Amino acid sequence: MGLIVQKYGGTSVGSVERIQAVAERIHHAVQAGNSVIVVVSAMGKSTDVLVGLANDISSNPSRREMDMLLSTGEQVTIALLSMALHERGQAAISLTGAQVGIVTEADHTRARILNIKTARLERHLAEGKVIVVAGFQGISGSWEQGEDVEITTLGRGGSDTSAVALAAAMQAEKCEIYTDVSGILTSDPRVVPNARLMDEITCDEMLELASLGASVLHPRAVEIARNYGITLVVRSSWTDEPGTRVTSPEPHPRPLEGLEIANPVDAVEFDVDQAKVALLRVPDRPGVAAQLFGELATQALNVDLIIQSIHEGNSNDIAFTVRSHTLTQAESVVEHIAPALRTQPTAADEAEVQTSGNIAKISIAGAGMIGRPGVAAGMFSALAAAGVNIQMISTSEVKVSCTVAETDGNRAIATLCQHFDVTSSPARLDQSKVFKAPDTPSVRGAALDLEQAQLAIRYVPDEPGLAARIFQILADRGISVDMIIQSQRSRLHNDKMTRDIACTVAQADATLARDVLQAAASELGCGAVLVNKAIAKVSVVGIGMIHRPGIAAVMFQSLSEAGINIQMIATSEIKISCVVQEDKGIEALNVVHSAFGLAGSEVVEVPA
Ligand code: ADP
Ligand code: ASP
Ligand code: MG
Repeated sequence: MGLIVQKYGGTSVGSVERIQAVAERIHHAVQAGNSVIVVVSAMGKSTDVLVGLANDISSNPSRREMDMLLSTGEQVTIALLSMALHERGQAAISLTGAQVGIVTEADHTRARILNIKTARLERHLAEGKVIVVAGFQGISGSWEQGEDVEITTLGRGGSDTSAVALAAAMQAEKCEIYTDVSGILTSDPRVVPNARLMDEITCDEMLELASLGASVLHPRAVEIARNYGITLVVRSSWTDEPGTRVTSPEPHPRPLEGLEIANPVDAVEFDVDQAKVALLRVPDRPGVAAQLFGELATQALNVDLIIQSIHEGNSNDIAFTVRSHTLTQAESVVEHIAPALRTQPTAADEAEVQTSGNIAKISIAGAGMIGRPGVAAGMFSALAAAGVNIQMISTSEVKVSCTVAETDGNRAIATLCQHFDVTSSPARLDQSKVFKAPDTPSVRGAALDLEQAQLAIRYVPDEPGLAARIFQILADRGISVDMIIQSQRSRLHNDKMTRDIACTVAQADATLARDVLQAAASELGCGAVLVNKAIAKVSVVGIGMIHRPGIAAVMFQSLSEAGINIQMIATSEIKISCVVQEDKGIEALNVVHSAFGLAGSEVVEVPA
């Protein structure tokens, strides 16, 4: 029997009784012959309570003081759990992040782990002790270097990341995340009551789901598990059910030094066999995307990137890419359907179809870009510096894809490989065998994010480098951007060709984002910057959707049948995200979830 890292979340240690039950479980694991390192969260909702206290005192508390405050929550739990173990005759010791030596960057409230000292952990394990470590926290700076030593935290939900990082550093046999649901479900059971438990999910899928709102795992924990090949299991702290395995391919060996800050980008992926179809000025009403992609699906046309965004008040542009050899077929489907989408059959300037044959899709991929807004901006600047014009942008938290002219493809790839210091490869998931297994579901799960706001920047001059400048301004303020979409249409404004750019940002950042962009607007030559906080993002994720036509159509159709209008669409190879009106979010998640047959027959119990 080997070393196991177990992590218990807030609800699982929310009361004295629960701490005692957790101690019992740990004691059993030790009696079965295992060495155990335990990572715990603050009790119940105590971190939220601390955040509330801070907000009562200051509307803009210092990030250093927030770390000082929030790190106390976990310190309570480690001491109590250690005492509960002692009561059972189990040798145990509690340690804060600083006492272990979980060394992080100095970036308060979102620090990344640089390395973990293992000496003290090894010594206590050799003494037969269970080690109870405070999750979510670390320490930055070094006495030896004459630096200030500071307590840091990893970001909300970060105890999962502490646990997986400890498992990597200690080369544990596995990392078990104990929580208040039976494992990873097809959606959040608090929002979708008939969500079904999955036996397993790949790291790639979980990474997307976690960054799209499935709070059951911290995305950075999934990233570390994938990078270091950690066996990761999510299970209930109330039962002995096996829970869900998060599977990862055999990793490339990598050093433990710079654990979370190795390259933010793992790969530059490309696909030069793409063509684009754009449908401009379609009415902003439910059912349009469903009709269009439904028709493409009946022709078995496989669509790759899809982006849609609203422009000029009340009409949308929808653009998508297909394999080059299917362009003619796709174009004729769209030409055929376009008149039916016009408000007046004679209004020829509505639902105009544009195609472009030779385009390449270039993506940067890697979970290291989560929470690092400079990465996407760096991609746009590097492309601008190489004189490459970006046609479409579609982003997820772990991937940014741009389409460019095919003739610019090689230059774009070389520039990005150099900029991010990585090698390029054809789209990684395209090569994967996983999705070809007949039992791989097209859609593994669905998620809802209610914390985003939409930002629209009008009349952005259509020149290379403008996207780079805009996103650099946001990055300099630490604002992460998701779902960046630039309009397909360009139009003349003050004698310049311009486009609109829309993106989503965290609601908490929306006002600041608008203010900094508005302040820079005249220098950039852009128009007004508009914010809409009343949005919800609904997403579906699954490796099985690659090369299976019609998945997007099913999603759009289900929303259309429920009368829900889609405001924005952005996709990656394994996810489709739609922005809808905020008050339709929960309904949208539920209809999409059942449209993919994800609902289980058993109702999952969620403890209070
Ligand atoms: P912990 O305190 O144990 O870390 P969290 O609240 O961070 O617990 O995460 C568990 C919660 O995640 C569940 O109670 C559930 O509401 C939510 N959740 C969201 N999406 C999913 C999903 N796909 N599967 C399971 N739980 C999910
Ligand atoms: N206690 C912290 C939070 O509530 C960290 C965690 O629970 O993972 O965000
Ligand atoms: Mg959590």
